[in-house]
Amino acid sequence: MIVAHLDLDAFFAAVEELESPELRTKPLVVGGDPHGRGVVATANYEARKFGIHSAMSCAEALRRCPQAVFVPPRHSVYREYSHHVWETVRGVVPTVEKTGLDEGYLDIGEVAGDFLVARKVAEAVQTAVRASTSLSCSLGVGPSKVVAKIASAGQRDAVPRALRRQAPARRRAEGRGAARRRRRRDDRGARDAGGRRPQTATAGEHGEGAP
Ligand SMILES: [Mg+2]
Repeated sequence: MIVAHLDLDAFFAAVEELESPELRTKPLVVGGDPHGRGVVATANYEARKFGIHSAMSCAEALRRCPQAVFVPPRHSVYREYSHHVWETVRGVVPTVEKTGLDEGYLDIGEVAGDFLVARKVAEAVQTAVRASTSLSCSLGVGPSKVVAKIASAGQRDAVPRALRRQAPARRRAEGRGAARRRRRRDDRGARDAGGRRPQTATAGEHGEGAP
């Protein structure tokens, strides 16, 4: 089994920057009212330099960066971009399992026989997404969803990373029984990636690993 995890980089903020290029150089927070009880949905990388991150209160974000620009989320716009992204991805890897607008797993083993080829395919996905939407994404390749997700974390538009196995620290930390259960779970995940219809219910962003 070879699976890839795809994560669009700072998705909501990246879309707002595409829609209003003048925002690109400013600290940008997509989220609720900074003078009310709003929370940060996504911060662009400029805003992250001030320590602003997802799920932080917008009031706190404003305290950390008074010059930040706050815009409310526009989910219908993000859905449109997301639709284009996943259409593009399916043009390269037909079987995908979306776990959010900006995140999902690709059954890359279907089109790649080994990790070397899988990494090339992941790179082709990244290039195609950038070409069709101008959005950047991070990809990780692994023998299971868990490992693929670890491989994609913090990549931020870098060349896709492939991890052939789980990091040793974690394997040591879990007993043999747990490892067996995890493998079984991963196998189940692989079948799901092949058979289940893409999920569209989850509207929010997930797992923004990049700092
Ligand atoms: Mg993301």
